[in-house]
Amino acid sequence: MKQLPITNLKHQLRDLFKSLDFVSKNFLTGKEPETRKANSRIYYNIYQQLGLAWEYLGLQCQHWDGYKRTKDDQSVCKICGKVKGIKERYYFLPQSGLKTIGKRLDPNSTEIFRNKKEAMLFEDSINFQGVHLKVDVHNAYQSRLLTRNINMAAERIVSFSERGIKCSIDQHLIHIHLPEAGKKVVGKSYGGFVWELRKKTLRHFPVLFDFDQKGRLLEVTILR
Ligand SMILES: [Zn+2]
Repeated sequence: MKQLPITNLKHQLRDLFKSLDFVSKNFLTGKEPETRKANSRIYYNIYQQLGLAWEYLGLQCQHWDGYKRTKDDQSVCKICGKVKGIKERYYFLPQSGLKTIGKRLDPNSTEIFRNKKEAMLFEDSINFQGVHLKVDVHNAYQSRLLTRNINMAAERIVSFSERGIKCSIDQHLIHIHLPEAGKKVVGKSYGGFVWELRKKTLRHFPVLFDFDQKGRLLEVTILR
């Protein structure tokens, strides 16, 4: 689906509302006995289908003209008629160009919540062109580990996997999990900071470090 120009969208929505009103007034709410005939089912279906078209068309609306108050004291968009802040069931994305879903979210409280569900701000994932991307944002919470309560820190964790390599990034760590690690580990596995490792061991690691004159790490490259 291609994004409609705003005037075109306004016209389409206006015509759609007219069709909805027409079906409703003439075939669904009239006092004529024919509304109770077998035909009323088809009018009801048409009304439902128009409602679905409204839901989809409304996804393209950025509510450019602001909101108005209704009789039952709700704020609705002046163009698409959707209630302000309503949770949409679908996303509308252009086929070409940048696709944007949502805004950046970070932990927003210093409180330690009772459990992860209460601390959760956002957790969702997307498969895009074969890459699996996951975003998990939560405030701090208490978690039970065996018999002890431990505090889990507030975090925003972004992770994705490509060619069997799993990468996750949060406030404190950039972690890369290589597919080789999924295979059988030979003997024990070891770890440590670079300066702690023996040169003999380091020679086997195809890792390059880029740094500046002040010795600040700029880039890490792993050759495959
Ligand atoms: Zn709108």
